[in-house]
Amino acid sequence: MSTDQYINPIHDQNGVIWLDGQLVPWREATVHGLNYTLHYGLGVFEGVRAYRTDQRGACIFRLADHTRRLFCSAKIMRMPMPYTMEELNEAQRQVVSANQIDESYIRPLCFYTSHTMGIHAAGLQPHVLIAAWHWPSYMEPEVREKGVAVKVSSYTRHNVNSAMSKAKVCGHYVNSILAMKEVEADGYAEALLLDNEGYVSEGSGENIFIVHNGTLYTPDLATCLAGITRDTILTIARDCGIPTSEKRITRDELIIADEAFFTGTAAEVLPICSVDGIPIGEGKRGKITAQLQSLYFDTVYGRNNDYSTWLTPVDP
Ligand SMILES: *Cc1c(COP(=O)(O)O)cnc(C)c1O
Repeated sequence: MSTDQYINPIHDQNGVIWLDGQLVPWREATVHGLNYTLHYGLGVFEGVRAYRTDQRGACIFRLADHTRRLFCSAKIMRMPMPYTMEELNEAQRQVVSANQIDESYIRPLCFYTSHTMGIHAAGLQPHVLIAAWHWPSYMEPEVREKGVAVKVSSYTRHNVNSAMSKAKVCGHYVNSILAMKEVEADGYAEALLLDNEGYVSEGSGENIFIVHNGTLYTPDLATCLAGITRDTILTIARDCGIPTSEKRITRDELIIADEAFFTGTAAEVLPICSVDGIPIGEGKRGKITAQLQSLYFDTVYGRNNDYSTWLTPVDP
């Protein structure tokens, strides 16, 4: 399946997808075009990863936390979840196991199909789909060392009372995509979005950290998603004695930071080498970034026993 990925489009692969309680052949996990989520964007999802560990085989990283966030997203969006958290934890494990991919990206999605096209979605039962595929690196692997060139987007991150930033919602990504397309057109690899008051919020799908005089700072959770990688990095940093602070960060604070990096399940720990063409620190991956990045990979690959409870073996 991992080789298929590069030959065939994502919908045309071998393997199975979990759809509403059953494993169905990959190519048959389809829905009708008159689909509420497709038309209006109301659906919630997760991005989860499994890594191949030496001792315990493939393990899903922070599975229970991702599933809990999916349920929070659904609650915020008033979507009644038709399964329990335990059922969806088990389903994710099953999908990875059935597809025999030990390094995988897992995508649970909760969406509505529709009887009518009215926006009220009254009485609709959400569907749940879980797919898993081989997705080794969000960008070219060298970027983990060299870092990304970032541009501040002219698009504002969602206001706390227009969208709900604690929820990982399909439609919210239009804002991320606008930002991404805008900066890509100018030759940048990632966008940084500011909140409606002009403070640093997050990347298109990643949280941001800066290092200043040995302290690690990240924006508080007012407008950015409560990233699980963000929480992992804060925990790892505190445990190894790096002072941390969650606070509002201004654009100029970012520019004069010693180091900066993004975090996310897909992006993992991604150094930021410049913002708007201005080098951050020495313009390459900083020392604390490198340290946290390496601790992060030790953790997800099960080489750090302190965090072994974060790993769920796919085949126990
Ligand atoms: C998913 C996501 C993140 C990263 O969250 P993780 O739990 O670390 O994967 C950050 N920002 C946005 C907008 C996201 O959707």
